Parts: sequence; C-alpha cells; structure tokens
Amino acid sequence: MHVLVVEDDESVASSVMEGLATANLGATLVGSGTEALRSFAELSPDIVLLDLGLPDMDGTDVCRSIRSTSSTPIIILSARDDEIDRVVALEIGADDYLVKPFGMRELIARIRAVVRRSSTVEPESTKSLRNYGPLSIDSRSRRVTLAEVEIYFTPKEFDLLDYLSRDAGAVLRRAEILRNVWETNWYGTTKTLDAHVAAIRRKLGDPGWIVSVRGIGFRFGLPE
Ligand code: CA
Repeated sequence: MHVLVVEDDESVASSVMEGLATANLGATLVGSGTEALRSFAELSPDIVLLDLGLPDMDGTDVCRSIRSTSSTPIIILSARDDEIDRVVALEIGADDYLVKPFGMRELIARIRAVVRRSSTVEPESTKSLRNYGPLSIDSRSRRVTLAEVEIYFTPKEFDLLDYLSRDAGAVLRRAEILRNVWETNWYGTTKTLDAHVAAIRRKLGDPGWIVSVRGIGFRFGLPE
C-alpha cells in the first residue's frame, strides 16, 4: 500500500511520515497542491492524506480535482481553525476527516478502515472466473478462452490481462499497472508494458480489448 501525504507543515509532515514508516506503509510526501496533483497522477497511491491549508492552493480544490478522476480514498488532515467541518469534507468527496493534532495510532487505524471500505466495493473484481462476451478468464487455473478456444499467454501476459480485466471499463494508470503487475515504479519498464499489451491484443485478435488512453494508461473491455 502506498500513501501520498500532502502537508506543508514540516513538523506535522515528519511525524506523519514517521508514523507511516513504523506501520510499514510506503509513503511519498509533497508540500503543495500542484505537487500533490502531479504526484497523484504519477504514483496512483492507494490513499491520500490531505492538509487543507496549502501554500499554493486550497486543499478542498485538490480534493475535488482528485475526486473528479478517481475514487482513491482521501483523508483530510485539518487544523482546528480551518473553516471546514466533517460535512463539507464529505461533500467535496473526502472519505474521512482528522483534526490536528491527532495521534499516529488513530491515523493508521483510519487509513486501514478507509482502504478496507473502499476495496470492498468491487465484488466483480474478486471473482476468479469472469466472462466478457466470448472471452473467459479464470484466475485460479490461469486459463483464458475466446469463443471456447483456449489461448496461451506467458505468465506476465496473463498477469497483465488478469489485472486489467478485474477492473473492466476503468482506465488504469501506467504507474498503477507497473506497480501491481511488475511490482515496480521504475518507468523504464513502460516499454515492456507496451510490448505485453501488444502481445495480448494480437493473441485476442482484436486491439479493441485493450484500449490505450493517451497520457494515462489502458482500459480493458469488450471491443466495440
Ligand atoms: Ca498547512
């Protein structure tokens, strides 16, 4: 799990980063709204901890902006004098709200609760046998059939197809795919990703199964 921490106050930031490290959670720290949006796009974190009083823009705008493209959980970290309450936080799409100063134990517990909640909303993705028109993918036996004819994939091709198809219709970011399928954030592997996508398209006989979304990543679905 990777946490994006958006906080410009150094003392709060360092205690949060320390608390996350103690809980064995990977984290990236940024100190402005602009950096937050850029890092969010690049890293595809599993959760965002967001301070509202940022030097360059309002945290509520950062929250709205993330929410307009993604359902990644967001926990707002707010100073007592920020003019925002829980209701507003939820209105702008945040999942939870913590008032500073807060204890690290409470923060970690909230993170786990929010991530757990958000990952239980996709029942389809947890099924091991999934059908998409003529295509059938069985994650347990790692078998793929198209119109009842078995198609052979290399282990990584299968992993990639399996991963993309679990969230059919959604645009998955390159960084997210690399982290989950190749377990790396190394951008050099992006060529490998393209090569695997090309191989899967070829084997499925239609490039429409995996659509490239420019500047973002890929979307799996039934070809039109
Ligand atoms: Ca601040």
